[in-house]
Amino acid sequence: MKPAGWRPTAARRREIRDWRARCRPASVMSSRGVVMDASAMSSSPSSSSSVSSVFDREKLVEWMRARIGDGFKARAHARNLTRACVECAREGAMTLEEVFVRRPALGLPRAVVDGLVGGGGGGGGRGGAFALFVTRVAHEKTSGDGSTKKMIVELRDGHRVEACVMRHAKGRTTLCVSSQVGCKMGCTFCATGTLGELGNLTPGEIVEQLAHASRDDSVRNVVFMGMGEPLNNYASVMEAIEVMRDDKGFGLSASKITVSTVGVIPRMRTLTRDAPGTCLALSLHAPTQELRQKIVPTAKAYKLGDLMAVLDEYLASGPKMKTMIEYCVLGGVNDDETCAEQLGELLRGKEVIVNLIPLNPTDTPAGHVPPKPEAVQKMLEILTRRFGLFTTVRHEMGQDISGACGMLSLKTPGEPDIEDMMAPRKERRSHVRTNGAAKRAGEVTKTAPPVREARSADKTAAAAAALSSLRAERALVVVSVVSAGLFAYSWYSRRSRH
Ligand code: SF4
Repeated sequence: MKPAGWRPTAARRREIRDWRARCRPASVMSSRGVVMDASAMSSSPSSSSSVSSVFDREKLVEWMRARIGDGFKARAHARNLTRACVECAREGAMTLEEVFVRRPALGLPRAVVDGLVGGGGGGGGRGGAFALFVTRVAHEKTSGDGSTKKMIVELRDGHRVEACVMRHAKGRTTLCVSSQVGCKMGCTFCATGTLGELGNLTPGEIVEQLAHASRDDSVRNVVFMGMGEPLNNYASVMEAIEVMRDDKGFGLSASKITVSTVGVIPRMRTLTRDAPGTCLALSLHAPTQELRQKIVPTAKAYKLGDLMAVLDEYLASGPKMKTMIEYCVLGGVNDDETCAEQLGELLRGKEVIVNLIPLNPTDTPAGHVPPKPEAVQKMLEILTRRFGLFTTVRHEMGQDISGACGMLSLKTPGEPDIEDMMAPRKERRSHVRTNGAAKRAGEVTKTAPPVREARSADKTAAAAAALSSLRAERALVVVSVVSAGLFAYSWYSRRSRH
């Protein structure tokens, strides 16, 4: 925590200013009600604010219904068009006109096609009501080891957000998307929180991050852990999830989509109803109300007790619901043994995955420092050994590419990916065992071996298998040599007798 009288150093003030400048170009009033750069506006693929993304599902359906006059048909056409757009975007198409050239048999009335692309003239959707992309990738950077790609996505009004593609060793790819420009939650360790809330992304702008990422990668998981608090942009996030899940959209499984929240209680309550099967990640960051409201200012409104109650409701809402508890470990703030014990007590008996995230120093303009590795290790031991909580430590990676949000934390290849960590509860139950004392007391102790231990056990088994195959090969060589020797000896003896 910042000591009393703390003021950011000149270098840190510069860092914050640079960060703000990157996200908020200035000079013209934008459609989001903030000043912005006119030149940036003109560089967007569809600079007119009247043009919507074709991935804005409800707008598209409404627009088609007004022309076709049949809501059912309008939705069917919109879904078919979305599927064609997803496929063509993967093939490299950039405009709706290209989509209609590549997929001429979509069955849309000519008047509708003309209305969508603006009478077929101009390209890029100019003059039409919709465009394939209203955002563009202004910049992208890949980490040295190629495992992480960060995209700066420019919205049509010139604002910029980040999306991050994480390629895992098993060939799975996770995309971390942004849902807001800036964020009003003001978490003290988070760079995005210093911006305040500059605006909400539309459903299409959220989905387009996935469409951009899908050009180079087959994205299997999506996590809402980029810029912004997703539950503060609830309607857009729900609509975007619908398009991502739709088999005529991106066809992602609900369980491969994770919504991260710092604890917007009313929306957490409706999440299971509006996006059933979607995973939840709760950014807790502190085990007590007092400490939490120092790190997460909005905790004053959403009390820890209420948060735990809604978490219990969420966990009880279905056997497949999975929840990750994100805990950003801040040096000297929430990283001591007492905090670990309090956190263990708070989560005792809950089927959650605790994810300890050591602070990335580049993301802390408010003055927090990273924890010592031994403090994180001690927390891990207490949570796993003493409280039997399934706990992982997230390691930073891609430090050669800058971070966006305090929550965005990249993992090294070989570390468990989010899909592994969010495995269905019934799979993780295989780690449940009874031990002597607990058995006698009639309790069940959940022992969740750290994933790395499980991986090293796998490696040992593989090494043993390789060793035994080597031994078999050697034995075969020895037998062959001895047989050849015996054959040569008998042949020589027979010949010398004659
Ligand atoms: S950590 Fe998330 S909720 Fe908190 S300020 Fe950053 S973006 Fe907002």
